[in-house]
Amino acid sequence: MRGKVKTIETRSYFENTSLAIAVVIAIGCSGFFLARLVDDSIRQTQLAEERQDVSEDVFNIASSIEQRFAFYEFVSIALSAAVEIDPDLDQDTFSTLVSPFFLTDPGILNLALETDWRISHVFPVEENRSVLGLDYREIEAQRQIISRMRETGQPLLAGPSSLIQGKEGLIYRTPIRPAADSNEQSFPRSIAVVSTMASFLDLATQNADGLRIGLAFGNASQSEAPQTYGYVAQPEDDPIQKSVDVAGRAITISAVPELGWGGRTSVTASVYWIAFAAIIVVCGLLFWARSIAIERRRSWQQLSDAIEAIDDGFALYDPDDRLVLCNSRYKSLYSRSAHLMVPGAKFRDIIWGGVVAGQYADAVGREEEWFAERMAAHENPTVSMEQKLNDRWLKISEACLDDGSRVGFRVDITSLKDAQHQAEAANQAKTDFLNTMSHEIRTPLSAIIGFSNVLKNAESLPAVKALEGAVSEDKGKSKVENVVSMFREYASRIDANGQHLLAIINDILYWNDMGSSDRPLTRDVIPVDRILTSTMNQLSGLAVEKGLTMTYESIDTFVEGDPVRLQQVMVNLVGNALKFTKTGAVTLSAQAIDGTVEISVRDTGPGIPHEHLGNIFDSFYQVESGLDRNYNGSGLGLAISKDIVEKHNGQISVESTVGKGSVFRVSLPEYECAEQAA
Ligand code: ADP
Repeated sequence: MRGKVKTIETRSYFENTSLAIAVVIAIGCSGFFLARLVDDSIRQTQLAEERQDVSEDVFNIASSIEQRFAFYEFVSIALSAAVEIDPDLDQDTFSTLVSPFFLTDPGILNLALETDWRISHVFPVEENRSVLGLDYREIEAQRQIISRMRETGQPLLAGPSSLIQGKEGLIYRTPIRPAADSNEQSFPRSIAVVSTMASFLDLATQNADGLRIGLAFGNASQSEAPQTYGYVAQPEDDPIQKSVDVAGRAITISAVPELGWGGRTSVTASVYWIAFAAIIVVCGLLFWARSIAIERRRSWQQLSDAIEAIDDGFALYDPDDRLVLCNSRYKSLYSRSAHLMVPGAKFRDIIWGGVVAGQYADAVGREEEWFAERMAAHENPTVSMEQKLNDRWLKISEACLDDGSRVGFRVDITSLKDAQHQAEAANQAKTDFLNTMSHEIRTPLSAIIGFSNVLKNAESLPAVKALEGAVSEDKGKSKVENVVSMFREYASRIDANGQHLLAIINDILYWNDMGSSDRPLTRDVIPVDRILTSTMNQLSGLAVEKGLTMTYESIDTFVEGDPVRLQQVMVNLVGNALKFTKTGAVTLSAQAIDGTVEISVRDTGPGIPHEHLGNIFDSFYQVESGLDRNYNGSGLGLAISKDIVEKHNGQISVESTVGKGSVFRVSLPEYECAEQAA
């Protein structure tokens, strides 16, 4: 890890606090103005709806007033017709005729028939008896109206005015045409329908809840100031108005809401609350997004710093194989192509740039071929590989991520490689030394063994025979025999030790070559029985010497392999069994199991402690170690045996119980054409 890591700052606009506050203020103002616009729009719509509703109410009131006067007209026409038919109809008949109209309109105060300026008939009679015979000419206002009516021959509406009965009311007066056979040119009679002003006000206000209603009675030419009832229209109120023309009068209905226009609007608060809530939510979301962005930037920063802090080269390429990021170490390792390592650069361009710059030692002279191999390895990154640059060695590890991105590590293994080369050179020197020394030792050793064999048969030597011939006395002959016998014994010891030394040297030579393929195995078909018999023949003498029973049990089948090496394995195993067993027996047996020949060497020796069983096939491993060992040996026998067996596609294993003995098992593939071989 390097001490100080350069941090690259990548702050975003999101992290600017002043900007964030400005954005919040802007959102707040926009929200407020938007709410205002919505509020205005809703108000306009509601005002239009409200005016429409009031217009409908005013229209209905106007219709009711028109209907009422239409009814009065109908009543007047009906009575006119009755009077025309019976000009002399009496009060009772008049009462009978008009009484139904009172039921239809309870607002009618009375109905009167005027004949030659006087009230000749009235209904209801009792309440209005006082007006019977009243002369209208004595009441100036009535006289003017009746005069005008007689001039125009049209109905006239009088009032509102105080009635003789004490109430305020309206009088709808209709002239009755003179009889057809009369010479009368004027209208000597008229019908008066008298209704209370209160009933009209009721009519105007009965279906106008929440409204202020006003009625203004003017003349049709609007030449006089109108008489007003209820609400008096003011221009600033912007009232809804409608005029109804009735018998020379204009009745104007004016209406405004009691609470004023827009008074029933209740959305303002809700709109502003909704706007406020929306502003809070939007600002909240913005702050949330801001905190995520800041957190992301910090995580990215942390990751970049961590990558920068790695002592090895690191690079990340996106799914399009374009550089996303790499640390400075990566660039320093590839100094000749570092200038190409910018975010967005393609991997292949960076590599090819390095090839052109002569950065890769192995690519020199075979650039395109090397580039193709490198790209293929990059496309399918499976195992790590080593790359030789001009001045160093790198270990390259690349991996594909789920989204197709690639990460790559570059570890500088130059010192490891140097150490490896040194170790290989040292190992080669050791191998060469061992081979040379072994051969150098074997040559004189062969001579020693050869001459010891000659000495073992010293009595056959011509010099000894000549000496025996020269010695005539028995005493002298016996001394010569003693000398020969001594030579034989010493020669036997020299031979045995020479053989032992030769075996050790052979083992060392084999072990030295174990990793190499310099000594290939032969492939012969060998009867299993032959291997066991040869082993018995070679080692039965030793068993006899040690007083051990040695038996074998063979089978009639074959294995394929190198007879010398397989024999070496069996001699190793049986030799160990005889060496470590003091009393009892050594048993060799073979059996065929499912295409495998299993040869067992069983002894009644000391056994091997459980904790050593996993190691005894390792080179130079011995249960008893040190110079005070009871048994001689190099510790290579089992390692060599394992190597030979495995080279024959077999397995070697051991089972052992301390104090009872051991069983070594060698499993070899049975020769498939055993019958043919037999
Ligand atoms: P060595 O030359 O010492 O016999 P080996 O490789 O043949 O070397 O054996 C390794 C070790 O395994 C021996 O030193 C001994 O401790 C143990 N060993 C091998 N065979 C037997 C056996 N039959 N009985 C007990 N110990 C054994």
